[in-house]
Amino acid sequence: MAKYSIDLQAGKVKEDEAVNSVGEIIVGIDLGTTNSLVARVKDGRAVAVAGEDGKQVLVPSIVHFRPDGSVVVGEAAKPYLTTAPERTIYSVKRLLGKSFGDLSDVKDQFGYRIIDEDEDRLVKIAVPGSDGRQRYYSPVELSARILQALKARVEAEIGSPVSRAVITVPAYFNDAQRQATRDAGKLAGLDVLRIVNEPTASSLAYGIGLTEEDEGRTIAVYDLGGGTFDVSILRIEQGIFEVLATNGDTFLGGDDFDQAIVSYWQENYGLPLSTTQERGEIRLLAERAKKALSQEQTFTAEFRGTSVSLTRAEANDRFAPLIERTLSSCVRALADAKLEKGDIDHVIMVGGSTRVPLVKEQVSAFFEKEVNDTLDPDQVVALGAAIQADVLAGNQQDVLLLDITPLSLGIETVGGLMDPIIPRNSKVPTKVGRKYTTSVDGQVRLKVAVYQGERDMVADNRKLGEFILNDIPPMPAGIPQIEIHFYLDADGILRVKATEHRSGTEQSVTIKSQYGISEEEMALMLIDSLNHAEEDMRARSLAEAKTEANNVLLSARKFIRQNESWLSGEQVQEIGRFVDALAASVAGDDKDAINERMAELNTYTTPLAHEALDRNVAAAMRGRDVN
Ligand code: AMP
Repeated sequence: MAKYSIDLQAGKVKEDEAVNSVGEIIVGIDLGTTNSLVARVKDGRAVAVAGEDGKQVLVPSIVHFRPDGSVVVGEAAKPYLTTAPERTIYSVKRLLGKSFGDLSDVKDQFGYRIIDEDEDRLVKIAVPGSDGRQRYYSPVELSARILQALKARVEAEIGSPVSRAVITVPAYFNDAQRQATRDAGKLAGLDVLRIVNEPTASSLAYGIGLTEEDEGRTIAVYDLGGGTFDVSILRIEQGIFEVLATNGDTFLGGDDFDQAIVSYWQENYGLPLSTTQERGEIRLLAERAKKALSQEQTFTAEFRGTSVSLTRAEANDRFAPLIERTLSSCVRALADAKLEKGDIDHVIMVGGSTRVPLVKEQVSAFFEKEVNDTLDPDQVVALGAAIQADVLAGNQQDVLLLDITPLSLGIETVGGLMDPIIPRNSKVPTKVGRKYTTSVDGQVRLKVAVYQGERDMVADNRKLGEFILNDIPPMPAGIPQIEIHFYLDADGILRVKATEHRSGTEQSVTIKSQYGISEEEMALMLIDSLNHAEEDMRARSLAEAKTEANNVLLSARKFIRQNESWLSGEQVQEIGRFVDALAASVAGDDKDAINERMAELNTYTTPLAHEALDRNVAAAMRGRDVN
């Protein structure tokens, strides 16, 4: 299961750690299905940024193309939903990262045309231009238009350019959808520092997850918007939000509440609803009634000559089955997370429809606790994104570290040993380099195998990937200078680069899914490493002894070859015996035996090595004499 802070997408590695430059404004953006908004931390508080009127913070996620191709975004685009639906794109979030095949069930529900030229490719939206020709837009381009509008809005407020943002996505978004969101940001001129799960942002907005007290807390985020319902169960573990389960209904929200009211009125008043215009108007009136009933007990209005009314009790009757459906999702999410209601420490209300009093009551009754509903439910996600952005900007030094690597990352070294390069619990982003060399003469290739885990032998850890550094110039063992760098970015993407300094040969690999590991697996790996600590130590010293012995064997054999001319037959045989004995011990698992055989071989060969040195020196001197 993915961690909140994690994005499994390939991305730029932030080697410069610029995210930490204190004082820079990084904004938080909630790119929503119905509405989007941008927020920032101002004077230590997260606030949503309003438009020109200074009041309206929600930007409807609507993009309208005028016949000449120019674009209108947000509130100004809204009227075109009815007057020019084929050129007015809404709910584009539902299309992000989707292929036509993914959308075959729902494609006819949109007022605009989604094209189907290729089942497997990402969809495009066809918009007719004034010349009768179609223009094609991808959901990424359309989302970028919304992001641009938000960017412009915040820039107008602060009077300087904004180039960096944190953008939220639903917890269930897959890699393609997250990447599409990131791409939309880039297209809008924003460096997306982090893709954050919406429920995680909501928790942060309520300050949950910002202090150590929240360690081990479990949170339910109930998000009922205009058209969708999501419930997410999160747990904070070591400062990281883990999504334990998500559930929901992609076609259940405030719109259904409106429809329920329309149905009630139709049944009671037999309203004339034959034209699109009439149906549109009554829906708007129903929404007005719903909102009014969140404050009042009764609502009365006139619809085309008929007086219509509705009480809160009547509305509640119609809303109850819809709310019941959301609670069924909560039951499923709890079951998936293997939790009971009583395990939930906090319930957070998100989305405009949680303003309906019956929703609050029912959710509170279901979880048997007070819900967090003091923040504006439309703004919670963006406010949380702004807090996350502020943490990234380095402005909240005292907050609990949100980004750490849960397990060590390292490479395999000779003997199958794990050499941890980025130790577990390191802060990210981070960059670590370490020097290595070859173990065999003339070695021209080096395999760099990357592992994650706490055990001493790589065989007990999890392999993340490997690559080969080729074209190392042939040199004696130990001479090449190979530097291996690990770059771990804020999104958990690991890039490993190996460079041979003498030749400049370079090779790298990017590993995207180092967090593609569940909390349980991770816990098991840690427990495993503790349980096996002693055994691991033995294995490590055995592996080290074997590596050293193999080097000694290589040198001994080389020594015989190079000094055969003067060594006596007996000496050669004797060395051979020690070499065989050592080789035999290397084949076994007795570290002490290996060390003893090594010592015996050394004791026997040391005087011979001195003699060889003397002879070489003498030979060199003679050579000089001759010259
Ligand atoms: P969202 O997608 O989160 O922006 O949610 C918008 C939904 O919230 C729409 O269905 C709105 O009708 C609904 N909504 C907004 N304000 C209220 C309110 N005061 N009472 C009930 N529903 C509301």
